[in-house]
Amino acid sequence: MPRTIHIIGAGLAGLSAALKLSARGERVIVHEATAFAGGRCRSYHDATLGMTIDNGNHLLLSGNHAALDYLRDIGMADRLVGPQAAEFSFVDVASGQRWTLRINDGRLPWWIFDSARRLPGTRAVDYVPLARLLWARPGKSVGETIPCKGLLYQRLVEPLLLAALNIDPPHGSAKLASAVIRETIAAGGRSCRPLVARDGLGSTLIEPALACLQRRGAMVRLEHQLRALRFAAERIEALDFGKETVVLTADDAVILAVPPYAATALIRDLEGPTEFRAIVNAHFRTEPPPDAPPILGVLNGTVQWIFSFPGRVSITISAGDELIDSPREELAKTIWGDVAHATGLPPALPPWQIVRERRATFAATPAQEARRPRAKTRWRNLVLAGDWTNTGLPATIEGAIRSGNRAAALFAH
Ligand SMILES: Cc1cc2nc3c(=O)[nH]c(=O)nc-3n(C[C@H](O)[C@H](O)[C@H](O)COP(=O)(O)OP(=O)(O)OC[C@H]3O[C@@H](n4cnc5c(N)ncnc54)[C@H](O)[C@@H]3O)c2cc1C
Repeated sequence: MPRTIHIIGAGLAGLSAALKLSARGERVIVHEATAFAGGRCRSYHDATLGMTIDNGNHLLLSGNHAALDYLRDIGMADRLVGPQAAEFSFVDVASGQRWTLRINDGRLPWWIFDSARRLPGTRAVDYVPLARLLWARPGKSVGETIPCKGLLYQRLVEPLLLAALNIDPPHGSAKLASAVIRETIAAGGRSCRPLVARDGLGSTLIEPALACLQRRGAMVRLEHQLRALRFAAERIEALDFGKETVVLTADDAVILAVPPYAATALIRDLEGPTEFRAIVNAHFRTEPPPDAPPILGVLNGTVQWIFSFPGRVSITISAGDELIDSPREELAKTIWGDVAHATGLPPALPPWQIVRERRATFAATPAQEARRPRAKTRWRNLVLAGDWTNTGLPATIEGAIRSGNRAAALFAH
């Protein structure tokens, strides 16, 4: 009887582990608590808008190599859209000023020395703190490593780190900021072209993965929540799903790819992040202006990023904890005020929806970063996966997929 690898959780970490293992011919069963796969990266039909929307806008970068490999594996690599070069358009809604940051393709950052490419009002010498962040000392925050003020900070470092770390940057882990900068700006424009799943997260990242798993003979059981793990001295001996208990053979293995609060409830003594940050998204059913960039950075507004999709304009507010309990209608009006200002669309509020994810990511502080566990556990047939495990990256699609790949690799024969 060949071994079975049970994967708990059908988010991107669980799905990527399942794809790697099933490609190797392993017998795989994915158990997902909810009625849908995708976890925090999903699409759903919204009755108010009468259209399918994503729980939140997700931005990938061309340097997210694990995410792009995942998409190639499921035949969806051509579904991400974005500009041919690393271009980021911004508008400051307080001053009305607009600019486009253009990072040159190669690793040598000559864009910094070209006033037409770098940020308006900055000098080449202003970019030195970016290098200091690259060599940040462990345990330090961004605020302890670089000055969090000035034009370069406001126009580049703050928007970049707020989006990538989902935390007010001065409080963010300098080590995680360093990883972000190393894999994006410092790697050159070829690694930071912005990419978006224009047809939706579900039809790009999730449903094709499920179809691929089915073709490879892997089973995905929805509404099948793991209630408890049964521990023996060195291994997990059974999985308790409430009405059903799965007894594991000596060769069977488990990848626990659930969020940290679920994992720490299942494993006594497991240390994981305990603090989280929210992300707020709003979606408006309206056609974006024809010349709108696919994504537009917004400064000095409530909104941080505006995404233009066919028939829809969506916005993202990272570290949006203060807005979690604001009255919805009021929030929609404030947000649309920024959007209308930034895009020139009419001020009348179009049909809207607001999606607030309270625990969107773990809080990327140095203290929480120190609580991220490695994939291996003291039980030889149990491995952890998820964006919150110690991937070296903030909680992102790329981190989740790398963690799933690593978990699968740990069970290589
Ligand atoms: C609004 C929002 C915007 C974001 N924007 C971006 C972005 O622009 N770029 C980017 O790279 N990342 C972004 N992220 C982060 C990204 O979505 C996550 O890092 C990634 O989806 C996490 O995947 P995961 O598999 O680690 O966890 P999850 O997606 O949380 O998956 C865990 C799964 O486990 C299941 N589960 C839990 N308990 C059990 C149990 N007991 N038994 C069985 N199953 C269980 C859950 O239902 C879930 O499906 C965003 C996140 C949010 C919420």
